[in-house]
Amino acid sequence: MSDCIFCKIISKEIPAEIIYEDDNTLAFLDINPINVGHTLVIPKAHHENIFDMPEDILSKAVLVLRKVAKSLDKISDGINIGQNNRLAANQLVNHFHFHVIPRFENDGLKHWPGKIYNESEGKSVAEKIRENLE
Ligand code: AMP
Ligand code: ZN
Repeated sequence: MSDCIFCKIISKEIPAEIIYEDDNTLAFLDINPINVGHTLVIPKAHHENIFDMPEDILSKAVLVLRKVAKSLDKISDGINIGQNNRLAANQLVNHFHFHVIPRFENDGLKHWPGKIYNESEGKSVAEKIRENLE
């Protein structure tokens, strides 16, 4: 994709601090890290989101994701793995990517807030999710 910033990083048209590279997958530092060491893991093939990802490419990216997470785990206290799909979920770069975010004791970041189900809401949404499974 000619206008995709991550495709340009893959083709080395724009610079990035590369952590790992193989035929299918690239890992590089996020330019605006949540914490120092925040790394992005991307397939080299341009696919917009998890729904578009061919299973074999996704599987290979997941193995690199774990490789990077294991490395970051040695220099941090914990790891968050994130993956945003669609604008409503704050996906700003439309080239599939995992975020690997090192966490540190007392780094000031908060856990996400949890809601409470009311009445039959839980059963109802679970039924819808089961119906939509493919
Ligand atoms: P998302 O909101 O999940 O689409 O995240 C996109 C991420 O890409 C953000 O965390 C950005 O900081 C990161 N990002 C955008 N441009 C670059 C770049 N040129 N090099 C490295 N990371 C980038
Ligand atoms: Zn791309």
